[in-house]
Amino acid sequence: MVAAADLEAAERVVAELREACAARLDEVAAAMEAEMRAGLREEGGSKIKMIVSFVDNLPTGNEEGVFYALDLGGTNFRVLRVQLAGKDRRVAKRDSKEVSIPPHLMSGNASELFGFIASALAKYVAAAGEGDGRQRELGFTFSFPVRQTSIASGTLIKWTKAFSVDDAVGEDVVAELQTAMEKQGVDMRVAALINDTVGTLAAGRYNDEDVVVGVILGTGSNAAYVEEASAIPKLKLEGGELPKSGNMVINTEWGNFYSPCLPITEYDQALDEESLNPGEQIFEKLVSGMYLGEIVRRVLLKIASQSSILGDVSHTNLKTRFSLRTPDISAMHHDGTPDLRVVAEKLADNLRVRDTSLDTRKMVVEICDIVTGRSARLAAAGIVGILRKIGRAAPGDERRSVVAIDGGLFEHYAEFRKRLEATLVELLGEEASRLVEVKLTKDGSGLGAALIAAAHSQY
Ligand code: ADP
Ligand code: MG
Repeated sequence: MVAAADLEAAERVVAELREACAARLDEVAAAMEAEMRAGLREEGGSKIKMIVSFVDNLPTGNEEGVFYALDLGGTNFRVLRVQLAGKDRRVAKRDSKEVSIPPHLMSGNASELFGFIASALAKYVAAAGEGDGRQRELGFTFSFPVRQTSIASGTLIKWTKAFSVDDAVGEDVVAELQTAMEKQGVDMRVAALINDTVGTLAAGRYNDEDVVVGVILGTGSNAAYVEEASAIPKLKLEGGELPKSGNMVINTEWGNFYSPCLPITEYDQALDEESLNPGEQIFEKLVSGMYLGEIVRRVLLKIASQSSILGDVSHTNLKTRFSLRTPDISAMHHDGTPDLRVVAEKLADNLRVRDTSLDTRKMVVEICDIVTGRSARLAAAGIVGILRKIGRAAPGDERRSVVAIDGGLFEHYAEFRKRLEATLVELLGEEASRLVEVKLTKDGSGLGAALIAAAHSQY
């Protein structure tokens, strides 16, 4: 039997967690808006980079023709071909192929990596049988930090994830790709270099002209939105002219947002210190799918150190980093069985925590709820910060504002999605939030890139 005092000690940890995770969301939204303004004012003006994407036209739906996309950002990369057929017929044809990148190329040299990519593209184009001799255009989704210099050029700032191709750092990744394509005899023009957030915004806009924000809530988190070019003091385009559309898509890189009003707990601090990028991507570490399971694990470890309700720590995996993943906490959070069987299973399989009482399992669900609730609420506050920045959903605004969202966290974690939507209503008010919609928008990094290539076509 677990002593009552034991359960109480655990409950205290949970109560403290709940308190530490509570945030003044209005302050968070205001801080996000203020940081956005600072980042737009000058290069380095804020921790959020507010990168000018040079995308000044989003797809309208009228695009026609065959366009390609390359999506590089994980272990697999993808080649995609779409045939766009205008307003009524839209995407008439769509085909893609996933290719895994041999691990040795991820830490080799640039010419080998881009050579591999170009040869995969060459094979794919050959199979598609482009016989009309027309030069095709391609959108390149490259989900690594890039210093963008035009719609179709940008230098790699640093690799992340599993990549470390040193001689590519500081180089223009489009030039590298274009050179490799020429060597492979692929006659194609790279029309746009984008990241997945900008692609999500474009894919969303293609299907709904009221989409003004694109958000990624997956392994990482980021947002892009449509800004007025005249509201970007740091924007200096060649010739000093503003884009004809008057608009410019900004890739906020909000994952690196920081403000003293963020509800950061002892668990977050420890997670950050032990991470690969301490001090960086603080907002992302509170919000994104890569970290939520890990935060819950850290809370459970603390409980195990203060009570015996999870058994003897040394017999468990509670000390193993990332032994609990976000899909696991999602499964536990949604457990509808009366005796919380899924929770018992996940605790046993992932953490080797067995023979828990029903009360203990309920407590685990509550911890998932607190951690995921905080994430969803912060993401909603970030979205509200962006909407306020562009004067949307303000009293009297009668425009519809749609937020296109992609990523496994938003797509698969129903409680997360519910909380995010409820928080938007809470922050914007019943009235204004009626005109705000969030929409799952998949494949921004594929279709979105092809669409941006089409919207910036030179033919
Ligand atoms: P990426 O962000 O790497 O491009 P995805 O958009 O597919 O890829 O998101 C994957 C992330 O989504 C995972 O790292 C995980 O955190 C989260 N995720 C995936 N499945 C689930 C799930 N069932 N419940 C909650 N989160 C999930
Ligand atoms: Mg993705």
